[in-house]
Amino acid sequence: MRIRRIGILGFISLSGLAGTLAACNNVPPAYDLLIRGGSIVDGSGTPAYEGDIAIIDNEIVKIGDLNGADATRVIDATGLTVTPGFIDLHSHADRNIRDNPGIENFLRQGVTTVLAGNCGTSPVDFNDYFQSIDDTGIALNLGLLIGHNAVRREVMGNVNRAPSIEEQTQMESLVKAAMDAGAFGLSTGLIYVPGTYSETEEVVSLARVAAKEGGIYASHIRNEFELIIEAIEEAIAIGRTANLPVHISHFKVADNTMWGDSTITLGLVAAARAEGLDVSIDQYPYTAGSTGLANVFPTWARAGSREDMQARLDDPETRARIKADTIEKLYGARAAGDLSRISLVSFSTHPEYAGKTMAEVTVMNGREPTIENGAEVAMEILYEGEGAAIYFMMVEEDVRRIMQAPFTSIASDGSAVAYEEDLPHLRNYGTFPRVLRKYVREEGVLSLEQAIHKMTALPASYIKFENRGLLAEGMIADINVFDQDTVTDHDDWSNPHQYASGFSYVIVGGTAVIDEGTRTGQFPGRALKRNSP
Ligand SMILES: [Zn+2]
Repeated sequence: MRIRRIGILGFISLSGLAGTLAACNNVPPAYDLLIRGGSIVDGSGTPAYEGDIAIIDNEIVKIGDLNGADATRVIDATGLTVTPGFIDLHSHADRNIRDNPGIENFLRQGVTTVLAGNCGTSPVDFNDYFQSIDDTGIALNLGLLIGHNAVRREVMGNVNRAPSIEEQTQMESLVKAAMDAGAFGLSTGLIYVPGTYSETEEVVSLARVAAKEGGIYASHIRNEFELIIEAIEEAIAIGRTANLPVHISHFKVADNTMWGDSTITLGLVAAARAEGLDVSIDQYPYTAGSTGLANVFPTWARAGSREDMQARLDDPETRARIKADTIEKLYGARAAGDLSRISLVSFSTHPEYAGKTMAEVTVMNGREPTIENGAEVAMEILYEGEGAAIYFMMVEEDVRRIMQAPFTSIASDGSAVAYEEDLPHLRNYGTFPRVLRKYVREEGVLSLEQAIHKMTALPASYIKFENRGLLAEGMIADINVFDQDTVTDHDDWSNPHQYASGFSYVIVGGTAVIDEGTRTGQFPGRALKRNSP
């Protein structure tokens, strides 16, 4: 910005008296944008204070009492809260942001940066992906992790075995190439095919590659149910052995026999941190999760292609084993013995299942909604197609306790969903305003300053963003202006496609993407790379 102002002075000195007079009559305002009189919650967690924020180009240049200063654009934020733009560490936006580059479901929540490529799923060729993002243009900033599942599938397909030495080397070089291209680290999804077939040592070897380049290890851990303690211990051990920060994604207690045990699981993270390890977590603020319906099946039944799974279901003996395991999962963590705890988002061969519970789908297939019949119907419909589901599998007590841990960031686990298509999880539209409404304003689980910290500076610190996540001079001007008295999500599972309300301004790098509550059509976002964020 200084270069630009020197440029103006240079123009004056070179253009003679007439030019000087002309310039004096049209003195440009000191700032491009001035946000006046808001309650500034700066992201650090310290108490809010009243002040003005001045921006030139994409940078915050001054914060304080700027009475008398002029700017090309002035926003009156009196009575409103001003915060850094939110940084969502757990996004899957890489899957669909090129089809939906406006990603309005996130902008309306005040999210200005997403970290995508989570749960082991990502592009493999980062240079190609970043180029396509630059070509398309995006409304917010996007960073990427390189996904273990994507890399393993690229080298080995979906096979259920250990890699050969040559395959391991190939996977390592793909991780290295992604890190060189700007990945922020390695992600795993160890419940998913094919990452679920890996031993810990395979992941450690890939994590070492990320560690050498200064990356993090972000994990959807191997088991969020009855083996969650072992799975958390595995994630921490990977960080300890490969010597890199560990971030455990969408931390939750999902097994009905363990509800309330977040004291134990958080204790494991706290103990690792006390040991000096860099371990952090994120959370979406809901008691429901969402993933493929096929996850009601045991992982061994999902190996290979769709045809491989069908062949297993065609074999009576194997089918009986799949059914027994599925029944066990439905009585256990996946449904706690109640099929109405599973709700279908979409189904490839039966669009009429969208929005229906598994109990209703079982009835639609002519059966009583017992767990045994639900398992039978799941096998029948998953033979023909696939679908995503919402699983109501957690309790508020754990959600609150996890949220209050000092090392927990708020994150969505959402993506650039198509407006009015299917019935996706509410987190795609409501994660951040839900925390501000329910857990700050209504229940007081967090103070406003704590909540904003968990949406800004805290996640920024985990991926070592030095110029985002705080309202301070010299930082990038990613800024939200909203009304904390009215900001809200729309808590309606039967009508999830409702944008959050309450955000008057969402500013990405000095450019408003939401202006007076309206989407502007600007695309100021860009691909963020580890070495040039
Ligand atoms: Zn996940």
